[in-house]
Amino acid sequence: TKLSLSTLDDLSDKVARPNYAREDLSAGIVHIGVGNFHRAHQAVYLDRLFSTGCDHDWAIIGAGIMPGDAAMRERLAAQDYLTTVVEQSADVEAACVTGPMIDFLPVGDTGAIIDALCRPEIRIASLTITEGGYFVDAGTGHFDPGHPAIVADVVAGDRPGTVFGVLVTALRIRRERDIPPFTVMSCDNLPHNGRVCFEAVTGLARLIDPELADWIVENVAFPNGMVDRITPATGERERRITSENFGISDGWPVFCEDFIQWVLEDKFTMGRPALEAVGVQFVPDVTPYEMMKIRILNGGHAVIAYPAGLLDIHFVHEAMEDPLIAAFLDKIEADEIIPQVPPVPDTDLDGYYRIIRTRFANPKIGDTVRRLCLDGSNRQPKFIIPTIRDRIAEGRDVRGLALGSALWCRYCHGETESGAVIAPNDPNWDRLVAAARAARTDPAAWLAMDDIYGSLGQSAPFRDEFSRAVRALWADGTRAVLESYVKGIW
Ligand code: NAD
Repeated sequence: TKLSLSTLDDLSDKVARPNYAREDLSAGIVHIGVGNFHRAHQAVYLDRLFSTGCDHDWAIIGAGIMPGDAAMRERLAAQDYLTTVVEQSADVEAACVTGPMIDFLPVGDTGAIIDALCRPEIRIASLTITEGGYFVDAGTGHFDPGHPAIVADVVAGDRPGTVFGVLVTALRIRRERDIPPFTVMSCDNLPHNGRVCFEAVTGLARLIDPELADWIVENVAFPNGMVDRITPATGERERRITSENFGISDGWPVFCEDFIQWVLEDKFTMGRPALEAVGVQFVPDVTPYEMMKIRILNGGHAVIAYPAGLLDIHFVHEAMEDPLIAAFLDKIEADEIIPQVPPVPDTDLDGYYRIIRTRFANPKIGDTVRRLCLDGSNRQPKFIIPTIRDRIAEGRDVRGLALGSALWCRYCHGETESGAVIAPNDPNWDRLVAAARAARTDPAAWLAMDDIYGSLGQSAPFRDEFSRAVRALWADGTRAVLESYVKGIW
């Protein structure tokens, strides 16, 4: 059955579907960056909330800045913005058609996005624009006002090119029209995502009009949130399973695990949907939760990604089936990562890690090693380097994490151990490849990438461990080095 509002009643009984009528929904949120994660996470929570009969005035209008979003808009428009979400774990495979999105603005038309954001009923602007989308200078850890796209937006008037230009312009117009400002809610995987987003919005506003920046600081809420649900990209496998197992022809279904978590600060300028009714945890300070998730889960992904990539392993669960990679992860988590995570209310960190380990090993989800390897230049500074920095500051050893960093460097040389070419896998790929080639004979050349390592590149204990690991990886190969690390003789 081709998915659409008019075919919902024809779907098989095993497919869950909205328990609300589309015509009862009205918009409250504009979401920028309608990738797979948004549709598996925020949209699923809203779908569940709407199905309880509540808060039907919080539906989503989709928006995208990047040309690549046009394909998503086209597919979704052809099926009335419905999305099939397929949850998979070792013993679950369930499909649910979700419908909280009611429109999708023309992609890249920033004027249309600004117009929508100025509608008084829009009370939240939410974002999933990837970790790299916030114009953070990794060296300073702060907003980069000199980025060419930002410099261009300072003089772009009402037709900006970046998400932040769009948000600042819409906030300015709302202020001029005496419409209260919306909340800006980042749902990207960044420590203090609200704070990072605040820096980008106010940083750009300050370059345009300092008084507007002051007004934003006073009046706009940017809640921090910790988001969690492993959501791979969609390919032919996913379309086939959706069709064969559930009888749905969906142009862009979303696959994800059955686990879902969202911990959010309760700071909203114009109210919010009652998401606590469907399991969202509202807390005064999200810091301990995000630190736990980013270091243990995202850091864990970064640990297994590169050895698995070097060993030509395709799926994440296959990496976890490799006893050496699983033992490598267990040891780094226990010895170096978990000890650097401050206590989290009502949470046992070892138990949290055990669940994550099962999630990584989920054989159904089809998450790829290549996806985990993606974008290391943005991810390492957020998921791995802060833990290393804390350990160095406390005089603790960093042998495992330095080895993990060396594996990333070895991967960026551009071939796996079998000699297979690695297709570019990072926005900074060419620069990483050049640094990795230089590092083969002079490992310090890798750490000289200041925008990634900052002052850590000059830390002698880190540099020594890293250099030893790079040399050993080239001399002995990934398996041999991992074996000695796991045996504790590294
Ligand atoms: P995706 O590739 O499906 O979608 C990415 C979206 O971001 C696209 O709409 C793209 O156009 C947009 N985007 C990218 N760069 C941008 C920029 N500079 N400006 C504006 N928009 C930009 O990826 P996804 O799986 O949906 O993941 C998106 C983000 O969600 C991740 O980067 C992460 O921060 C967060 N997240 C993902 C997962 C997951 O498992 N996939 C889990 C937790 C959090």
